[in-house]
Amino acid sequence: MNLKKQAVINPSTGETISEVVLAGDAELEQAITAGRKAFDSGSWRELSLSGRRNYVSKISRGILDKAAELAQLETLNTGKPIKETTFMDIPSAAKTFEFFAAHLEEYLKEDSRDVSQGDRSRLVREPAGLVVLIIPWNYPLLIASWKMAQALSAGNTVILKPSSMTPLSALELGKIAQEAGIPAGVVNVVCGNGDIIGEKLCSDNRVDMVSFTGSNAVGKKILEYSSRSVKKLIMELGGKSAGIIFKDADFEASVNGSLCSIFLNQGQMCTGMSRIMVEESIYDRFVEDFTAKAKRIKLGPGVDYETQMGPLISQDQRDKVRAFVEKARKEGAKLLCGGKVPVDPVLKKGFFFEPTVLSGAGPATGIFNEEVFGPVAVINKFSSAEEAAALANKSEFGLAACLWTGSSALAEKMSRLVNAGTIWINTYGMFYNEVPYGGFKQSGFGKELGKEGFYEYTRLKNVISGRFPSEKPLVSYWYGF
Ligand code: NAD
Repeated sequence: MNLKKQAVINPSTGETISEVVLAGDAELEQAITAGRKAFDSGSWRELSLSGRRNYVSKISRGILDKAAELAQLETLNTGKPIKETTFMDIPSAAKTFEFFAAHLEEYLKEDSRDVSQGDRSRLVREPAGLVVLIIPWNYPLLIASWKMAQALSAGNTVILKPSSMTPLSALELGKIAQEAGIPAGVVNVVCGNGDIIGEKLCSDNRVDMVSFTGSNAVGKKILEYSSRSVKKLIMELGGKSAGIIFKDADFEASVNGSLCSIFLNQGQMCTGMSRIMVEESIYDRFVEDFTAKAKRIKLGPGVDYETQMGPLISQDQRDKVRAFVEKARKEGAKLLCGGKVPVDPVLKKGFFFEPTVLSGAGPATGIFNEEVFGPVAVINKFSSAEEAAALANKSEFGLAACLWTGSSALAEKMSRLVNAGTIWINTYGMFYNEVPYGGFKQSGFGKELGKEGFYEYTRLKNVISGRFPSEKPLVSYWYGF
């Protein structure tokens, strides 16, 4: 058989590092059939909860056993600095499997309630079924692990579809699940161009649910595909989040935290604080310090331990980011630093772009409203809490916000006023397995993580028992026979 293959590129060098086989109709059919059969056979969902816990926990250990190798692979494939993959992506992925393994029995405990006329209801959490997990390229292993850990712990079977640009760690995750002894057909990984294989995966009757993280454009297509067979959905979409810095904040922490909130992972974060708003009286000082520090961020190949910022994921992504900056300048924004491809010959072949800071790009400009998904910070000023909240809410997205203030009353007031699913106060960026994460408005719907995220991967069955056998129920008298 002639299988189609696609080159996998290292964005730090532009070189091909591997090739992946792209799923065609036959491979898709195989994955859907296997996932469906494994679900229906009960080989996974009927397993005792402690048995399931052991398998999920083994995946966590499998990730830790290969941590160094996975960090290297993720860095080669995404360009992320090796420090980030080593200390964040890989251990966090393992931790998520461990967390849901440890909590699945507690979360799946039945709830029972007395209802009217002496009847009793048992509320049973069942797995949703065969779940398609579609993930983006910015955190390939971590987002795959969030989705897979929750879906498997809840008793589902899965088809994992990584981005065709960053499939390597997802394929490794599939292998780790296999090595953990997960029954055949429970975990399936398919690679391919989303526009070619997405429609089948998201519209097929045999798939019960789609959990998607990615862009709004693709999210809307998935809403359409999945509507044909009315599937359960999680949609984690784009963002245009606001970092808001008040004059009473710890100045240094707010500058350094804000740098992290937009330049980590080359700014390719859905929760990137791409709009920074600073209280008038500290605006000039903040801009000066922030820009000076942005200029000092060390760009380099992902594999170098000294690197603080790697390349963007692809040439296309870099062109897109550069075009956003150029358009903003035409619209009157002032370029304070960056905005171009670095001249360093070591970086020439990779898709690098300098950390960029713009001012004077208010709500009327494109860059204030559209998701750039790159290392571009836009700084604006405000004069009151109400104005800051209004600016933050001037967006079609509602994913996250980050508040920096010394006043807990102000933080509390702002967290009520800002229309976003996650609010960080005097910190940024941590995701916790214990609590849910997900956006409002065009940032999508459904949660990941926490008990609430886990429940997204279940369906709730209401099992009602009458007073039988002690008494006949009312319905048995209704027609009087
Ligand atoms: P993308 O939407 O282009 O791709 C995401 C995934 O969808 C990939 O696996 C891709 O192959 C697949 N896909 C593409 N076309 C498809 C189709 N027609 N049908 C089904 N699947 C299809 O997104 P991306 O460029 O990989 O990632 C960047 C985007 O992801 C940004 O918008 C970012 O905000 C978003 N994101 C959101 C979150 C969140 O939690 N809200 C987290 C990370 C990234």
